[in-house]
Amino acid sequence: MLASRSRLVAGSFVRRSISSSRGAAVSLHDSTETIGFIGLGHMGSKMCANMSRDGKNLLVFDNSADAVKKVVGESNAVAASSVKEIGEKCSVVFSMLPNDNAVNAVSEALLTGAGEDKEMLHISCSTISPVTSRGLAANYSSQNKQFIASPVFARPDGISKRQATWMIAGEERGRKVAAELLESSGNCVDYGDDTGASNVVKLCGNFLIASTIEAVSEAMALAEKHNVDRKDVMTMLSGSIFDCLIYKGYGQRVSERDHRPGGFSLELGLKDCTLVQAAAREADVPMPFLSVLLDRYTSAKAKGRADFDWSAIGLSVAEDAGIDVSKDVERTRKDVDEKNLY
Ligand code: NAD
Repeated sequence: MLASRSRLVAGSFVRRSISSSRGAAVSLHDSTETIGFIGLGHMGSKMCANMSRDGKNLLVFDNSADAVKKVVGESNAVAASSVKEIGEKCSVVFSMLPNDNAVNAVSEALLTGAGEDKEMLHISCSTISPVTSRGLAANYSSQNKQFIASPVFARPDGISKRQATWMIAGEERGRKVAAELLESSGNCVDYGDDTGASNVVKLCGNFLIASTIEAVSEAMALAEKHNVDRKDVMTMLSGSIFDCLIYKGYGQRVSERDHRPGGFSLELGLKDCTLVQAAAREADVPMPFLSVLLDRYTSAKAKGRADFDWSAIGLSVAEDAGIDVSKDVERTRKDVDEKNLY
């Protein structure tokens, strides 16, 4: 059963639900302490930049030495030699990792580093399975530690602009600390004690975005095959009856065939559709649109486009309609190779 207590409050975290049930609010977080951060890719690097600008001391790690060098060079963060070192030294640790396997591996190393006695709060911001989050929360709890799931709606530029929406679920004290720290990058929404609830919400949102990319791609192919300018069509629609962030952003990407990397990769899009599928199977929810999306992402990956933006399924939709997109594919490949980011 999913938590029924989730409440969407625009612009702020529902702090009442955090502090009221146990009287005075208790914080695990001392504002002067060093915060651990693991996973310094597109998203994690921007979160670190915000926290660093807000005066937080950071101890950071990533498997990629280049990613560490970049973050350390652009902020006051200090590099750790391993995840275990962060577990040994930090009581509050963020992670922004690609998938469930990485979050499991990092958790194991963090718990080893922390040992039995130390309190530790791991705030996981990755998009992962609700089942993984619930399992990790139980494991952490059995060791007197906390695992909080705080996935996010935002792309890297949205994090930089501090416009992200964080969904926070897990034990009460940890939710409060997570909200305090994540507010440096946007708004927080409380999803209560069930650690998997926020992951479910994130998967619902990404399913809707992927469905929008597919629908817009089909509409643009239809316009083009009838010799109507697809960019004009999208500009008109997203300026009138489809005037919202997702139609505007992905409408522009698809209609202009701008699938440069730097935002959300197609590989991660396939990962999220696979997570939605697992969650749907677990709860006996038929999702026929999802089956289409899974095939789209699998096919685009098979064509060598995993490192394009996830809006690049639009290229396959156009190809199926007999439209020649070879020049767009070539240009995007060059953008990836030359790190020409969106
Ligand atoms: P990314 O691939 O750019 O970054 C992930 C980083 O984690 C990489 O630097 C990688 O080297 C590092 N890493 C992988 N395994 C590791 C390990 N075991 N130990 C230490 N470091 C490890 O990915 P991203 O785009 O930053 O996305 C991160 C997460 O955020 C994903 O779960 C994604 O689904 C989610 N997300 C991304 C976006 C987006 O627009 N990019 C938006 C919302 C949510």
